Amino acid sequence: MDVINQQRILDEVAIERLRQYDKWGDQIHTVTHWMSILGEEVGEADKEAVEYEASPDEIFLDRPRDPIYLDRMRKELLEAAAVSVAMIEWIDEGATYPPWYENLSPEFIRQFVDWYQKHAFPDRAFTHEKIAEFKPENDV
Ligand SMILES: [Mg+2]
Repeated sequence: MDVINQQRILDEVAIERLRQYDKWGDQIHTVTHWMSILGEEVGEADKEAVEYEASPDEIFLDRPRDPIYLDRMRKELLEAAAVSVAMIEWIDEGATYPPWYENLSPEFIRQFVDWYQKHAFPDRAFTHEKIAEFKPENDV
């Protein structure tokens, strides 16, 4: 382990965290929404990994893998690490949920979770938009 390089990487994560803060400010999400944000970044890194392994041309197999995909994957991993830092900050600061979520009744949430699990949304996030889309059986 190269601690100097490790510190350099951690500095890059801190810079990316500041960049994200500059863009989004203080973020308050449900925990599943946080995980979907992290998952989006991991998915982007995963895409670059797949591109890297697929980069040798199928006809000219002796062509080396294109390192540009590793550079792109590295950038996405830094973004994922910075989102992880933001999530840990959110946990350490009390894991506050958004006001729109806290104002929902327990019965509404129960029906919403049932509906949500039936639909298996790919991004797995309980967002304000999905809540708004949901129509409970009874007015709860
Ligand atoms: Mg990204």
